[in-house]
Amino acid sequence: VIEIRDLHKSYGPLEVLKGVSITAHKGEVISLIGSSGSGKSTLLRCCNLLEDSQQGDVIFKGESVHWRGHGLGRHPADRAQVIRIRTNLSMVFQQFNLWSHMTILQNVMEAPVTVLHRDRAEVEKAARVYLEKVGIGDKCDAYPAQLSGGQQQRAAIARALCMEPTALLFDEPTSALDPELEQEVVKVIKALAEEGRTMLIVTHDMRLAADVSDHVVFLHRGLIEEEGAPEELFGNPKTERLRQFLSATS
Ligand code: ATP
Ligand code: MG
Repeated sequence: VIEIRDLHKSYGPLEVLKGVSITAHKGEVISLIGSSGSGKSTLLRCCNLLEDSQQGDVIFKGESVHWRGHGLGRHPADRAQVIRIRTNLSMVFQQFNLWSHMTILQNVMEAPVTVLHRDRAEVEKAARVYLEKVGIGDKCDAYPAQLSGGQQQRAAIARALCMEPTALLFDEPTSALDPELEQEVVKVIKALAEEGRTMLIVTHDMRLAADVSDHVVFLHRGLIEEEGAPEELFGNPKTERLRQFLSATS
């Protein structure tokens, strides 16, 4: 579904991605691991047009989605494409990013109703189903501040699901949470993996990566240093860098 081909991304003189290629097929779960600053978030942001890139391609369902760079005159992909891509590659952030002035139900309904112009009553029905699914069906009328971090993150996942996306992108969905709240969110992500959802997950949680992924990619300074099945990567790391990284995180 998503093919990242030889992606390059710089911020001024800082080259953050130096030619990364990853393909996620339908139903596949891919985890991205690597030290802070290795370019994991940047890679996800390039996938859904939160960032432009200088070279390479992101192909989503056969459509090239990255911004075309023309130096200073660089122009974004057209708005319809941006909406199409962000709808289909729905992102869940580390800091939840819920609207604090809206109830949980309103948060989940907002984008499908205002951006996608879907029927309000049907969106509400779907939103309640997704909130139930992530275990917070009783929190529809609460405001984000009244929820625990784990509940807020599950609301953010329900919001992503309510877009009916083709794939989900997670950027460290559990890092802002206390260990016991983390597990509530891990459980939801595991259930989504079992359902056969296509997901790209950036995580510091090696247990989560080992448990849910079909494929794990270890990024080091903007390049893929090693990748493979989780048993291989965690059980028998081949590069010294991955060995060091794993011993530092365990
Ligand atoms: P972490 O594990 O800490 O989240 P990461 O692997 O997600 O790290 P990125 O956020 O992708 O790393 O950042 C990669 C590099 O790009 C870092 O050196 C960072 O400082 C730099 N960077 C990220 N965003 C910007 C920006 N908007 N402007 C300039 N530099 C940036
Ligand atoms: Mg990051």
